[in-house]
Amino acid sequence: MSIIRVALDVPLSTLFDYVVSEEKQIEIGQRVLVPFGRKQVLGIAMEWAGSSDLAAERIKPVTRVLDDVPPLPQDMLTLLRFCSDYYHFPLGMTVLSALPTRLRALEPVKLKQALDYTLSAAGRALDVATLPKRRVVQQRILQALREAPLSGAQLRNLSVSAPAALKVLLEAGWVEVCAPVPRTAHTFNDAHALTGEQQQAVDAVTQQQAYGCFLLHGITGSGKTEVYVHLMHEMLQRGGQVLLLVPEINLTPQLENYFRSRFPDVDLVSLHSGLADGERAQNWLKAQSGEARIVLGTRLAVFTPLPKLSLILVDEEHDPSFKQQDGLRYSARDVAIFRASQRGVPIVLGSATPSLESWHNAQSGRYRLLKLTQRAVQPATLPIVRCMDATQLPLQDGLSEPLLTAIESRLQRGEQSLIFINRRGYSPVLMCSACGWLSECKNCAGKLVLHMKDRSLRCHHCGFQQRVPHACPTCGDVDLKPVGIGTQRLEEALQRRFPQARILRVDRDSTRNKGAWSTMRKQIHDGEADILIGTQMLAKGHDFPNLTLVGVISPDGALYSSDFRASEKLFAQLTQVGGRAGRADKAGEVIVQSAFPNHPLFQSLRAHDYESWAKTLLAERSLAGLPPFTFQALLSAESKDEQSVLKFLHQASETAVQIQSEVEIYGVVPAAMPKRANHHRAQLLVQSDARKKLQAFLRIWKPKLDTLPSQKIRWSLDVDPLEY
Ligand code: ADP
Ligand code: ZN
Ligand code: ZN
Repeated sequence: MSIIRVALDVPLSTLFDYVVSEEKQIEIGQRVLVPFGRKQVLGIAMEWAGSSDLAAERIKPVTRVLDDVPPLPQDMLTLLRFCSDYYHFPLGMTVLSALPTRLRALEPVKLKQALDYTLSAAGRALDVATLPKRRVVQQRILQALREAPLSGAQLRNLSVSAPAALKVLLEAGWVEVCAPVPRTAHTFNDAHALTGEQQQAVDAVTQQQAYGCFLLHGITGSGKTEVYVHLMHEMLQRGGQVLLLVPEINLTPQLENYFRSRFPDVDLVSLHSGLADGERAQNWLKAQSGEARIVLGTRLAVFTPLPKLSLILVDEEHDPSFKQQDGLRYSARDVAIFRASQRGVPIVLGSATPSLESWHNAQSGRYRLLKLTQRAVQPATLPIVRCMDATQLPLQDGLSEPLLTAIESRLQRGEQSLIFINRRGYSPVLMCSACGWLSECKNCAGKLVLHMKDRSLRCHHCGFQQRVPHACPTCGDVDLKPVGIGTQRLEEALQRRFPQARILRVDRDSTRNKGAWSTMRKQIHDGEADILIGTQMLAKGHDFPNLTLVGVISPDGALYSSDFRASEKLFAQLTQVGGRAGRADKAGEVIVQSAFPNHPLFQSLRAHDYESWAKTLLAERSLAGLPPFTFQALLSAESKDEQSVLKFLHQASETAVQIQSEVEIYGVVPAAMPKRANHHRAQLLVQSDARKKLQAFLRIWKPKLDTLPSQKIRWSLDVDPLEY
C-alpha cells in the first residue's frame, strides 16, 4: 500500500493523502477519482508520499484512476507549483483551473473522433461553375476540397457560414467524411523577402539555443507577424512546437486562417475560452501528444502541455487581457517567460508599445531588444497625427468642424474613416437641468448610461437597467439632458450630418450576438462601410487597407486618472488605433481632439516616438516609486456590509505590520470603484523594491490572512496587480 498526494479543487493550500491499493497503477500527473467529504471528486496525482500525518485508518483509498488520456507531464506540474507559490493561490485550485473542463469532469473523456471532409465521386464530377452564383460559401468549400481533404476547423475558417454550407453539401452527397489525413509535410508559403531588420530579428532568435527573452519592438505595420511566421518555420523544421499567445480580442478565425494559409499542411490548433468543451479538450490533447505543431491561444493556452516546445511568442505583450482578473490572477506573459526559462527555449515578446515592465527589462539588459523601425510595405508611411484644442473649437455632439471636414473628404474619395471613443451607449449620464440630479446606479458608485435604442438607463458595472424617466425623480422637471458623448450619440450625429454615409458602430452592444463582430469585420474589408465608430475593439486586429482617417474623441480622462497606468494604456491604444490608418498605399491621418493638445503624451504620439514617451513615464514612475521600479500585491475585499470589509482589512494590515519586513504597507482605502452591485469594496496595497522581499513577506502573510475571520466577505490577493 502506498500513499499518494492529490491536488483537489478546494480552497486549501494543501494536497490530500489517499492510499493506492496494489492492483491500481497510478502515474504522477494522472487524473484520479477520490472521496472527499460525502462526494467523489476529481483530482490530479501530484507526488508519492513516504508517510502521512493522518492515522492509517483515516486515509481513504483512491476510487478510480482515469487512464483515458496521458498524465500531465512533470514540467506542467512544476509550472503549476510555481504559479501557486508565486501568486499565493491554493495549489489544488491552480492545478485544476489549468485543465480544460472536460478533463475536470468525473468521467473519462469521450471525444468525437475528429474526421476530415473530402469530395465524394459525385463532388469530384461536379462542375462548381454550374452552382448558383449566390452560393459562394458552398463554392469556396468545394474549391478548397479539390486541393486536399480538410478538417472541420479548417473549413470553419473559410467562412462564418461554412457549417451551414457544409451541411447542404453533405446532404447533396458531394462531400463525405473520411479518416483524418495525417499532416506531415511542411509546406511554407514564404510570402515576402524579409527586410534587413526583420532578418536580424529572426537570426537573433534562431541562434539562441537556450532560454533568452527578446523584446521585439516594432512600429505598427513593421511586419512583426512576418517575423513570427519565419520563426515558426525555422522551429517546425527543427521538429519543434511553437506557442503563440495573442490578446483575447485578436484571436479570430481570420488570424487562425492566416497562419493556416502560411503553413497549409501543418497541424495547428487554437485554444481559447470561446471553444466548445469538446473541441478545447481535443486541441489540448493534440498539443500534449506533440501532434499539433503550432498552438495559437489566449492567456489560458500558456498552460498547455507541449512536449516539443521550442519557442514561445507573445504578441501585443502589453495587452491587459494577458492578466487574469479572478481566481488564479496570473499574467500569461509572465508565466510564459517562466515557462521558457524552465524549458530552456527562447521567448519573443512583441509590441509597438511595450509595457513599461518589459521596456525597463530591455533597457537594463535582462531582455534583448530587437527593433523594427520601418513599415514593411513601401511606400506605406506612418500617419500624420494632428492634435486639435477641443477647448478652442465649437463642438457638435463632440465633433469639431475640422474633423467633420476630414471625414467628408474621405467620403468623397471613397475612403474609410474611423472614430474612436472609449465609451459605449448614447451618453454617460443623464442630468436634470433644473436641480442637477444625475442618473446614478442604486447598486454601484457609478452613473447609469443612457442607451437610446430602447430608451433605457443602464449600469455598465452591475447590469441594472431601468426605463428613462419622463421627469426628474427629485424635482419633477421634464428637462432631462444627456451629458457627454458615447458611441451611439456619435453614430446619430454623423448619420444626421452625412445621410448617405454607411455607418458601422462597433462596440460591446452592437457585437453582442455571436458572429456579429466577424460579419462586421468582413463588411469593413469589403468596403461596405464608410464610417466606423468604435471602442477599443476596433483599435486592435487586422489591417483595413482603405482606412485613411482616424478621429479620436475626448481621450483626456486618462491623462489625469487616479490609475497610474491610464496614460501608458492610452498611448498604446492611440498608437494602435492610429496604426490602422494608411497601411497600404494611402497616407493616413489621425486627428485627436483634446483639451490638452500639448501634453507630452500627444507630443510623443505626433512624433511616433514611443521611446521618448517611455522615458518620460519611467522617470515619473521612478520618482514616485511605482512599478516597474517596485513590486506590488493588492489585497481586496468586498461585502454587502461595509464594516466587515474594513474590519477584515484593518486586521490584515495589523498582521502585516507585525511581520518584521522591509515591505511598505499602505493604508486601507476604498477601491477605484468603491461600491459595485451592492458590495462595498476596499483594498490594502503592499509594495517592495525587490520581488524577492515581497515574496518572502507574502509567504508569511498569506497563511495569516487565511486564518482571519472573514464571514460575509470575499477577499483576494493579487500579485503584480494591473487593476486597483
Ligand atoms: P505589425 O504586426 O508589425 O503591425 P504586420 O505583420 O501586420 O505588421 O505587417 C504589415 C504588412 O506588411 C502586412 O500586410 C504584411 O503582409 C506586410 N509585410 C510584412 N513583412 C513584409 C516584407 N518583408 N515585405 C513586404 N511586405 C511585408
Ligand atoms: Zn431635477
Ligand atoms: Zn450598477
